Amino acid sequence: MRYVSTRGTAPELAFSDVLLAGLATDGGLYVPCRWPELPSADELDSCSTYAEVAAAVIQPFIGDDIAADEIAAMCADAYGTFRHDAVVPLVQVGHRQWIAELFHGPTLAFKDVALQLVGRLFDHVLAARDERVTIVGATSGDTGSAAIEAVRHCDRVDIVILYPRGGPSEVQRRQMTTVDSPNVRAVAVEGTFDDCQDLVKAMFNDSPFRERMRLSAVNSINWARVMAQTVYYVTAARALRQPITACVPTGNFGNIFAGWVAQAMGAPIADFIVASNTNDILTRFVNDRDMSMRPVVPTSSPSMDILVSSNFERLLFEMNGRQGARTAEQLIRFREVGRLDVPADLHERWIDGRFRAARFDDDEVAAEMRRMYQGCGLLIDPHTATGTAAARRLAGDLPVVTMATAHPAKFPDAVAAATGVTPALPDHLADLFDRPERSDVVPADLSVVEDYVATRFPPER
Ligand SMILES: *Cc1c(COP(=O)(O)O)cnc(C)c1O
Repeated sequence: MRYVSTRGTAPELAFSDVLLAGLATDGGLYVPCRWPELPSADELDSCSTYAEVAAAVIQPFIGDDIAADEIAAMCADAYGTFRHDAVVPLVQVGHRQWIAELFHGPTLAFKDVALQLVGRLFDHVLAARDERVTIVGATSGDTGSAAIEAVRHCDRVDIVILYPRGGPSEVQRRQMTTVDSPNVRAVAVEGTFDDCQDLVKAMFNDSPFRERMRLSAVNSINWARVMAQTVYYVTAARALRQPITACVPTGNFGNIFAGWVAQAMGAPIADFIVASNTNDILTRFVNDRDMSMRPVVPTSSPSMDILVSSNFERLLFEMNGRQGARTAEQLIRFREVGRLDVPADLHERWIDGRFRAARFDDDEVAAEMRRMYQGCGLLIDPHTATGTAAARRLAGDLPVVTMATAHPAKFPDAVAAATGVTPALPDHLADLFDRPERSDVVPADLSVVEDYVATRFPPER
């Protein structure tokens, strides 16, 4: 399997190179040169675990790059870290409403489903090449802990995660700072999340530093993350034995695009519901063809507080008939003028009838958390509640499966304010508040941060 860039000029690469590269050299995102078909129904029926389905579904995306038995072993290992035998169980929450619980991984958010596998893929590919990398990333909370958990046991990956001092919630911070692995550093920056992101960008733009440290990233535009997320769309639709509507609380368009890929591969997903919080760029696009940037407003579902939906680029490339030059032109203009223009006929062909969308503010999300607790006895987090609210408002004839993206205990204050009940942390994190923390503090200064990275993880080892 070969991969092409959505902007058309970067070299075609095989899976392992796409994995390590993240972003393409022309600024685009990698996608497979064609969408493979799902394994046959018989083959999927013969799988006895989620990990086996995962191995079968992702194998064609990897091609000959990694042997099938090695992919299977990595999937078994990755999904063995989940606390639920089903890995992504379905729970019924209404007559024709289900949620897919994506939060049974080590850090209680759906990013584990992809990153637990991606960490193992990194280690495998680096071992085959006898190379190492240093992953640097910025986080406001969730992504950092999922990335750290993904690579804490990797021999060939060091990781430095920058977070704004005082920014993340205490649970989020402790999930990063209590990991006692020699290859992990969580660093508090005296500054904002934007400062952290700027520092990471500046490290990548410093070519000598980037090459010396062999910098790498595992952000949400990495193709391997999307690939791993296609699997639970397949298992959800198969479990219900009929076509479904998939409802996804989303900001970056990453999770929902994975569903679109599963549909393109032949999974019985009839259509999609986009659920937005107040930062509703995607809902405005689906409903009114208006994709324009607006200032980010902080909400109770911070993982969807985004300005630009970076993974939308992959769907745009498809809408453009896979013309990279045209996609690049539209996106460069989008950054300049703050508005993406998609012709009405393309919107009609690709969006109408395939996607529906709704937006909910924090009060509506709180009311939905309360309703779900009263109606089903279930505590759900604000991201999931955004989804279930949209699923109820827009439900049609088909069963709706809403992606439950975080465990309620990850956002205890919002859940308690809405329901009066403070959700408990699962057993494996019950002593989180007693574990020793390890964190360094640095100023928001590029040379200090680069020194820090190079001293902690000397490249000459
Ligand atoms: C990252 C995240 C999301 C949004 O993911 P997208 O890639 O924007 O679809 C939603 N909920 C939670 C809890 C997350 O951590």
